[in-house]
Amino acid sequence: MFEYRLGHFLTYHHVSQDFFRRHRDKYDGLIIPLSIACVFRQGTGGFVLTLKKQYALDPRTPLLQADFDRGSIRRAHLEIADVHGPSIVSTFLSRPLQATDVEPIEGEMARAVLSFQKEFARQSAEKVDKYAALLGEDVESEYSGPDFLIPPYFRYAGRRDPWYPVSLGLARAAVREKEDFRLAPVLHMTAGFPETEFDALAGDYDERGFDGLIVFVNNLQEYLAPASTLAKYGRLVVRLRRLGKPLFGLFGGYFTLLLRKVGMGCFSNAVGYGEYRDSGYHEGGQAVRRYYVPRLHRYFTDIEAQNLQATVGGAFLRCDCDTCRRRRPLTNYTSQELLDHFLKTRLSEIQRADASDLDDLIAELDATATALEDYPIPFDRYSHLREWATALRPFA
Ligand SMILES: [Zn+2]
Repeated sequence: MFEYRLGHFLTYHHVSQDFFRRHRDKYDGLIIPLSIACVFRQGTGGFVLTLKKQYALDPRTPLLQADFDRGSIRRAHLEIADVHGPSIVSTFLSRPLQATDVEPIEGEMARAVLSFQKEFARQSAEKVDKYAALLGEDVESEYSGPDFLIPPYFRYAGRRDPWYPVSLGLARAAVREKEDFRLAPVLHMTAGFPETEFDALAGDYDERGFDGLIVFVNNLQEYLAPASTLAKYGRLVVRLRRLGKPLFGLFGGYFTLLLRKVGMGCFSNAVGYGEYRDSGYHEGGQAVRRYYVPRLHRYFTDIEAQNLQATVGGAFLRCDCDTCRRRRPLTNYTSQELLDHFLKTRLSEIQRADASDLDDLIAELDATATALEDYPIPFDRYSHLREWATALRPFA
């Protein structure tokens, strides 16, 4: 499990179905947010099934514990709440859920959320005929369900946080509901989760019924995080890996990609945004024109990326993927081209990392930072490379 061809999942969003189809050789599968899965009546499920990629449904439960203005509750939020159980909808409408609301209904909530995931393929298959006909493909009599099931989960700051035992209880309750499916609970912690509790955490999740573990450090912005935080994340991966269970990093950028060198099996990211996520974020996504600079392994606005290229000159910060081969200002790229370029770059990052030793990958980060010191570029544009190298060095 989680030992896929590339070890790379994408977060699905339904605005760009064509994108996911055109690039289907560049990722292993899709993580579908529950709110989007809920609109299968409008075709999400049908599309996903005909894509014939692995997929899993992220219940996005932490939204229910998020404290935000109840006046801005949207339909997608209500759909998430409803899948978690009708009994919590009225509470969610009036205030954030408390751990004490969930504790008495763990079994009920786990059953509701898992049955939604198990039913997804069957209910979505009704839409498949339409897509298959459009694509001139044969309709299959049966489409496979999710590659693994994800129990409802909440965010916590440590083992003494009241949400911690509730999350663990939901994961354990989900074992009883998984049938023949594989199950991967989410360990959703804040970056401040105490390292002194890693052993106990690992012990808690050493359950036979958990086929894999998903790690989600809330709002971990890899290019802003200090080396100490990133190294701690690395040690968490190493510690959890000793359980012998495959690990999946939910929402990650290049640093998480490199953690595959220390035991992370697979990771996911969104396209164009979403290398990190605040699970309490409740507003819709906003399209920002961003260009992923390959050698810096992070996004910048297209304007900033253009400035960096101009300042450094030559080929150093240029990309040679077939989207970028035709020379023009980055600000002239279409939104689609910005996404195409990113996914091609991500694929080459994965392939390069697979073929290299961690030592060499660290040396490359340092070499880039050293080279950029010769230019009038603010340090914060590339300081993350130093932080990453510092964080990873003890593992090399
Ligand atoms: Zn490119």
